[in-house]
Amino acid sequence: MLLEGDLYGDARLTPEREGKTLAFLAESILRDYPGRVAMVSSFGAESIVLLDMVARINPNTPILLNETGMLFAETLNYQREVSALLGLTNVQLVRPTRQRLAEEDPNGLLHRNDSDACCNLRKSEPLRRALAPFDAWITGRKKFQNDKRAEMQPVEQDGAGRVKLNPLADWTPSDIRDYFDRYDLPRHPLVSQGYPSIGCAPCTSLVLAGEDARAGRWRGTEKTECGIHYVEGQFIAGAGI
Ligand code: SF4
Repeated sequence: MLLEGDLYGDARLTPEREGKTLAFLAESILRDYPGRVAMVSSFGAESIVLLDMVARINPNTPILLNETGMLFAETLNYQREVSALLGLTNVQLVRPTRQRLAEEDPNGLLHRNDSDACCNLRKSEPLRRALAPFDAWITGRKKFQNDKRAEMQPVEQDGAGRVKLNPLADWTPSDIRDYFDRYDLPRHPLVSQGYPSIGCAPCTSLVLAGEDARAGRWRGTEKTECGIHYVEGQFIAGAGI
């Protein structure tokens, strides 16, 4: 479990790293893309770290949560708790349309047969619409989370020409843990129940000791990401938030 088992030694979150990340966010939100940047958050196991930093800069920053209709009730409760705690005033739940659900997944069982199609329907399509008004978006992805994220840069461009900002790209598991401790931030309630990475309920399972933090996501399949990041004009599997 990466959050508990630090692969990066005992280094602590330094004031310099925290300050540099805050400055990067402040420049992006206030100077480079004022009113034109949104943060995409799952309100998952580690999300509150970046949400807290964004709230310190501008609590009215649009925060987009993919409300797939399949989230744990605990996640929706945690979203409300975190939003109230941090004073977030612009959290937007991004949902698939009723028409598209009726067309593609009338019984709500698409995830069992074709998880990529389900993620496209319930995450990628709605998020693409929600991001349309913005020139940039902020994600909480970190390089340490898996091999596919190891090459991530703090500033990238998505296939639609929109700037993608990854302020925590270089943060380590101990940085995340230290930030939680430093600001006494509440954990997602499912973390203590064995879910170090939390997505939709049907596609998230318990993680055993020694397993990768994301081992419980789409367990038993080749799928490792929800596919809401896109390359060369296409949303692709392989780069979730
Ligand atoms: S994570 Fe599972 S339930 Fe959620 S959108 Fe993807 S396939 Fe569907």
